[in-house]
Amino acid sequence: MKDLWRDEDAGADDIAQVVYLSNLIGTDVDLVQPGGGNTSVKLAEDDVFGDRVEALAVKGSGTDLRTITAAGFTHLSGDRLATALTPNPSPTRRGEISDEEMMSLMRACMLFPDRDPVPSVETPLHSIIPHRFVAHTHDVATLSLSDTPSAREHVERVYGADVAFLAYLRPGFPLAKGMAERYANGLPKDATGLVMEKHGLTTWGDTAKECYANLLSIISRAEEYLAGRDKRSFGGAAPALDEAGRREAAARFAPMIRGELHRIGAWRSVLAFDDSPEVLEAVSSERFAELAARGVMTPEHIMRAGRRPLVLPLETGRSEARPSAITSAFADFRAEYERYLAANGQDEPIPDWLKVIAAPGVGAFFAGKDRRSALIAATCYKATLRAMAGAEAVETFQSLSDADACEMEYWPLERRKIAASLKATKPLDGKIALVIGAASGIGRATAIRFAAEGAHVTLADLDLDGAQRAADEINESSPERAQAIAADAADPAAMENAVREAVLRFGGLDVLFYSPGVPPQLHSVAEMADDEVQTQLSVHYEGAVAATRAASQVMLAQGPSTPAGAGLRTGFGGRLIYNASKAAFAPGEGAAAYGAAKAALVHYARNAANELSRYGITANYINADAIDTPLFRSLVKERAESRGETEEATLARYAERSIFRTATVPPEAVADAALWLASDASAYTSGCVITVGGGAEAMPR
Ligand code: ZN
Repeated sequence: MKDLWRDEDAGADDIAQVVYLSNLIGTDVDLVQPGGGNTSVKLAEDDVFGDRVEALAVKGSGTDLRTITAAGFTHLSGDRLATALTPNPSPTRRGEISDEEMMSLMRACMLFPDRDPVPSVETPLHSIIPHRFVAHTHDVATLSLSDTPSAREHVERVYGADVAFLAYLRPGFPLAKGMAERYANGLPKDATGLVMEKHGLTTWGDTAKECYANLLSIISRAEEYLAGRDKRSFGGAAPALDEAGRREAAARFAPMIRGELHRIGAWRSVLAFDDSPEVLEAVSSERFAELAARGVMTPEHIMRAGRRPLVLPLETGRSEARPSAITSAFADFRAEYERYLAANGQDEPIPDWLKVIAAPGVGAFFAGKDRRSALIAATCYKATLRAMAGAEAVETFQSLSDADACEMEYWPLERRKIAASLKATKPLDGKIALVIGAASGIGRATAIRFAAEGAHVTLADLDLDGAQRAADEINESSPERAQAIAADAADPAAMENAVREAVLRFGGLDVLFYSPGVPPQLHSVAEMADDEVQTQLSVHYEGAVAATRAASQVMLAQGPSTPAGAGLRTGFGGRLIYNASKAAFAPGEGAAAYGAAKAALVHYARNAANELSRYGITANYINADAIDTPLFRSLVKERAESRGETEEATLARYAERSIFRTATVPPEAVADAALWLASDASAYTSGCVITVGGGAEAMPR
């Protein structure tokens, strides 16, 4: 562990110091993983009445050590905490108290309930330790010692009396209570930290700097001990596929995995694929399946990455697996999980119980309700891989017992938070969309709208810079929601690649919005140029055929996972949405090639609807007319020139024939229609057109 402490950055007061300490720890994924770990400081401060009190400022629930600021800490009354945590403090509080009761007591100790977040579930632990600054980590180094059968011996051998040891207790109140009983007469005098078996480490100091120095020393001593050991790791690794082979295999497996996760857990996941050398070597090695089955490195990872990964039945170094073999692997895994639940007194499985799927020779897929959660699962599981290797070097990797793992997995306090976060609140939550022609106009407005309504979006366009600007705009408000790629709609291979990139980034595809546009070169029928015909056909029709071919394969691979009788609204299905044009229905002077290509698109979409709706995949198109886009503006310019009038005069003509008496309609109006077509609400609408904007002649007949 590198010493990153710099006095000049450490902050002047106690709160600034604990924030600095937290951020230093939070930046190192070998110390804590996203959302994990916590810190605190004890200080004297004025309460809301202006009275000086002893307070504990502890990391609030839902904050992250990487990014926490002063506002992320909850301030609690030291006196009230001491009363709340005294065993059997009053006749009314005698006996065992539940976590919920404990949390109400903790909330009742808050000094600024209107201002501060709810305290961390590990608040009692921080309160019991008498030292001023306390830091709790889920670090790879000491977990390499304590995720083993002889944890206590390893800790004693490395630290002697410098570090105390506490046998496993479930995090939260049982841990703090066990600790209070074990150390009723005070912590060992010379101890600078406490290793909590199969959970992590707590260190302390009277200053933030001393707390950090103690952490540094404890971690470094474990690292030195590990460095001197033979790293047997996971046994020999068979050769993996090359990079192109891995990507090809990942794009093929991801939709199947996403469909299976929906079938066994009824949740719509987003997948992050990882074939980094660390992951690839681990999942491809001989002993991986056996070691992975033992569990994860710290209890909190069960919630973030699942109890243990499923290993796909692939021959290492080959990516072939029959879909039926994958389906039965998931079914077997589910049956095993149900046995574990039954043996530990649970009957109803949580939806997202499986989040890591390893593919030997290919990499691993991490699942989450969004890409951010999937990446957190990846960060947590990669830390587990390092702790596993460490524990194997020290002795042998051992995780929690099934009973302890199940108690953690179904811990009501954490479960409720996760269940609430999994509930879809926006129409496109958990959906993955690809927008072709997303750099400007209708495509751009729709991609932004889809993301705002919960979707993950791939923005494809010939104009990569424009698509990237729109993707950046989305990611700024919702990180990891969007990616931009270069794609020419006139090139069928580029359309297939766009679908593949969407799948590789987000794990599948639910919505295709096809909206590339090339303005018509106005030619009379008598003078129509062949290359104009070909350009119009390739961008507005052939590209749609190629994109639909690839998109529908992904949607079908995800499977028609509608539970019997549940109806199409709850199934996986898919949404194919095409941006047609008034020109598809009504002739436009000089735009025969453009209009005929759009008409071909419309008829193609009807065929797609006819063939795919039985799988819950709908196909619809939007008849957009006079939408204020760069394409429309260039058409106006051309029309004005050909008529020898000003653009204003042409626009006035548009306003006159518009049923809304407006020359143009904003692209966001099309995005609204596309949103409905993309949502579950349109499950039984297929082969249809929605008209947005324009004049009476835009009404299809
Ligand atoms: Zn913890």
